[in-house]
Amino acid sequence: MKLVTPLAASAAVWLCASLAGASAQDLNVLCGVDEDWCATMERTFEAETGLDVSMSRRSTGEILDQIRIEKDDPRIDVWWGGTGDTHLQAAGEDLLEPYRPENAGDALPWAQNFYRLSGGTASGVYAGALGFAYNSDILEKRGIPAPSCWKDLTDPHYRGLVQVANPNSSGTAFTFLATLVQLLGEEEAFEYLAALSANIAHFTTSGAAPVKTAARGETGIGISFIHDAVTQKLAGAPLVIVAPCEGTGYEIGAVSIVKGARNLEAARRFVDFALSPEGQATGAAAGQNQIPSNARAALPPAAPDISLIRMVDYDFATFGSPDRRLRLLDRFDSEVLGNAEPLATH
Ligand code: PLP
Repeated sequence: MKLVTPLAASAAVWLCASLAGASAQDLNVLCGVDEDWCATMERTFEAETGLDVSMSRRSTGEILDQIRIEKDDPRIDVWWGGTGDTHLQAAGEDLLEPYRPENAGDALPWAQNFYRLSGGTASGVYAGALGFAYNSDILEKRGIPAPSCWKDLTDPHYRGLVQVANPNSSGTAFTFLATLVQLLGEEEAFEYLAALSANIAHFTTSGAAPVKTAARGETGIGISFIHDAVTQKLAGAPLVIVAPCEGTGYEIGAVSIVKGARNLEAARRFVDFALSPEGQATGAAAGQNQIPSNARAALPPAAPDISLIRMVDYDFATFGSPDRRLRLLDRFDSEVLGNAEPLATH
């Protein structure tokens, strides 16, 4: 009989763990914010707690899909960041673990309200308004006028020059879709999107990609959250940021624990940290400009003043419901992606 050497035995254990997709980490986090913030948060939380964290960045809809797929055998403990209505959709599908964070009492009123809406499963981390930004060099070079309203973006001047993400993957783009429905009504919103799609060369996967592409001069106009455009502008991009004249929607970015999380205690520590003033300061440290949810957290100096922006009274309960999401995405697929020319998804 052949003996198994210790080396072979440990290799076999490692192989089994890898094949099962199991992780030796103390905590597995899917991160829905910008990569720089994901990395800063991972480093800071590990230094604070000594825990070993595995953190990967995905767009919000992709995270929801992964959590759905792993429902009976969750690999992810925490979903941190990304638009809150998608967290509410997960709550509506019973995919989240209830948790009252230790600093819940410090949450600003909009975050308290969001927590109640989620049935005590998701907490607001930050807020930010939707808008667009144009590259002034590109528009000037082409001699085309600057847009100031959502309706301007359907003008044939901007053919091929507008970018937005696909709402199936991107929480930002789902916020855009829900915002249009709230501003215009559902029928008119889909008519608008059909007209807008004639100007869109690519629907990106990630919601911040359009303003990053506009910042590099690879497209003229990017529809994204205004705070993402501020980050690009501060880095020197020739962007002009627009809060559209008709008004706009906003997001509450959220954190939640996945139902059945394997590392529940570590997950709770992460949520507590993410909502503390120290955890929220990791955003500004990573160059981000969202408005933090903790009343004791410092506002990033360049955070947009959303009280100056004309805002729709965003209906998180309606647009956070799984049925409404499914119906809007089905219509988007058939009436916008299915009909427009030329279109590509990336
Ligand atoms: N990045 C930042 C900085 C955000 O504020 C948000 C919204 O929560 C996202 C990314 C969301 O990404 P996506 O639209 O790709 O889901």
